[in-house]
Formats: sequence, C-alpha cells, structure tokens
Amino acid sequence: MNNTGIKASLNTLRSSVKKVGFICAMDCELDAVTKLFDSVTIKKVGPTDFYLGKICGIDAVAAKCGVGKVFAAICAQTMILTFSPDLIINTGVAGNLSKSLKIGDVALSSAVVQHDMDTSPLGDPVGLISGINMTEIKSDLDSALVMQSALNEIGINSEIGVIASGDQFVASSEKKEFIKETFGAISCEMEGASVGHVCFVNGVRFLVVRALSDDADGASPDDFPAYCVKVSENSSKAIYAFMKALS
Ligand code: SAH
Repeated sequence: MNNTGIKASLNTLRSSVKKVGFICAMDCELDAVTKLFDSVTIKKVGPTDFYLGKICGIDAVAAKCGVGKVFAAICAQTMILTFSPDLIINTGVAGNLSKSLKIGDVALSSAVVQHDMDTSPLGDPVGLISGINMTEIKSDLDSALVMQSALNEIGINSEIGVIASGDQFVASSEKKEFIKETFGAISCEMEGASVGHVCFVNGVRFLVVRALSDDADGASPDDFPAYCVKVSENSSKAIYAFMKALS
C-alpha cells in the first residue's frame, strides 16, 4: 500500500471514527490499553466494567470480556448499545499460524472466521454462520492498513490476513493444519470472530489486532504463559501508534 492509499484510509477513519472501543479477554491485555488513557472513569454495565477516557485525545472505551466467544459477544453487544463506538478493536495475544510471523509480531485481520462452527453434516461449508450465510466476515480494511503503516513506522512486523476464533486453545499441529488449510488463517485465538460477528450484525466497523504469544503447537502450553505479558506490550505500542495517527 502506497502513501496515497494510506492517506485515503486515514482520511476515511478521521472523518468517521470519533470513538474507539477496545475489547480484550484477559487482564494483561486490558492493562496494555488502559495504561494509554489520559484519565479513566469506570462504568459497570451488566457483568462488565467499562473504562472510559481518551487516548491521544480520541474518545475511547475499553473492557475485559473474559476468555471465549460467549463472553466476547456479551461485551461487544453491551459496548455497542451503551457507548456507541464507531470502531471496535479486539486486541490481545494469539497463536501464530503464519510462516511470515513469529512470537511478538502482530496479526491484523482482513476477515474473521469461527473455526469451530460446523453444520457440514447438513451440507453447509465448514465455518458457515447460518442466518447471515457467511463463513468469513470482513473486518475494516482502512483500519488494518493504517494500523500496519503505524506498526511499520515503529519497527514491529505484522501481516494482514484471516484470523480464526474458536472455543479452544490450539496446541497441536493437527488442529493448526486444519485451521490453516480450511480457512487460510494466519492466526488463531478465542474471541475475535465473535466480536466481528456482533459488530457485523450491528453495522459497526471492527478490527482484530493480536500480538503473537505462541505458535499454536505443542510448545504453546509453555510459550503462552511465558510470553503473554511481554508481547502484550506490542499490542499497546500498536494501539498507541494507531490512535496517534488518527489524532
Ligand atoms: N485459563 C486461561 C485461558 C487462556 S486461553 C486464562 O484465563 O488465562 C488463551 C487466550 O489467549 C485466549 O483469550 C485466546 O484468545 C488467546 N490465545 C493465545 N494463544 C492461543 C492459542 N494457541 N489458541 C487459542 N487461543 C489463544
């Protein structure tokens, strides 16, 4: 993407995004966002604490949803109805499925899929979401391009591609290959496609931004706890660079 393309994406975002929502599954991921706030007020809605403030002068709302697709959906729908963000970024850590990425690098979504959605015995494609009749839900390309350009400037390697979510911690080459081959995914985690699904049905822009904590293989049960906090720092840098570009 050349500079003219990035400028066009940036202009689109600047005119349409006045408030950004951040959804994270775990404490270390939420800390990476809330430490960027100028000042914070907390509002509890249902089971969730929402952190309200500004990042680089732009209105922001952040919340920890908990692990998995159901918690992520509860949080995304509540955030949309209560705070009306123009863009929701689901951020945190994830497993790596791409040969171009390594632990610490950042996966950005072009689209999201639910790798554990399967009505194929009825003749549907694996991953099809009945009702909206889609397997892939496209995320906001302008946001991905601006985020990638911001990451390039601060020297963090990233790739834009399909991110696959499911209610499973992926830690075997068998599962990893299934997700890569079936969906062409570059990363796997447990919330992004749920946030994307909720955003799609509500007409809200979304992006998944994940720093890679492990390679979704046999080493993941050790790598995930070892790298989770450390690589969350790269999510934090990514968000700051993105919000600064927007401001
Ligand atoms: N009981 C643990 C569960 C963590 S699950 C806890 O509460 O800390 C792993 C989390 O990191 C999920 O939120 C998921 O989105 C992400 N993740 C990181 N690596 C992953 C992998 N290899 N497979 C699936 N999700 C992964």
